[in-house]
Amino acid sequence: MERTATCACGQLGVTVEGEPDLVLACNCLDCQRRTGSVFGVAAYFPERQVRLDGESKRFSRTSGALAFETSFCPACGTSVVWRSSARPDQVAVAVGCFAEPSFPPPTAVAWTSEQHGWVRFPDGVASNSKSAFG
Ligand SMILES: [Zn+2]
Ligand SMILES: [Zn+2]
Repeated sequence: MERTATCACGQLGVTVEGEPDLVLACNCLDCQRRTGSVFGVAAYFPERQVRLDGESKRFSRTSGALAFETSFCPACGTSVVWRSSARPDQVAVAVGCFAEPSFPPPTAVAWTSEQHGWVRFPDGVASNSKSAFG
């Protein structure tokens, strides 16, 4: 199974092999700012299964003890992939960039303490009020 995620203009692409290890919906305020939406959804893949094509710029930030480095398209600004110090051997791909509505749903939800009141995730998904999943 191979999938390709791209930025809004198509310049930056990421091809991934296999299924993600983790699909994480994160409600934290940093993800809200990163996406411009009210939560972010990341699919974490083993680094060796991820290939980046195109030009990217990087933005680094910290969140508590964790460090994040986002790669975004310099032409259109879309955040396509990032790395978290909590999961050093994996690369997170922004699920929306796959533009695939049948993509596997979140298996974990983080930062419910910062979740907008109207947002609902499927029953039975592991959730944590803070970042417990990286
Ligand atoms: Zn772009
Ligand atoms: Zn977050």
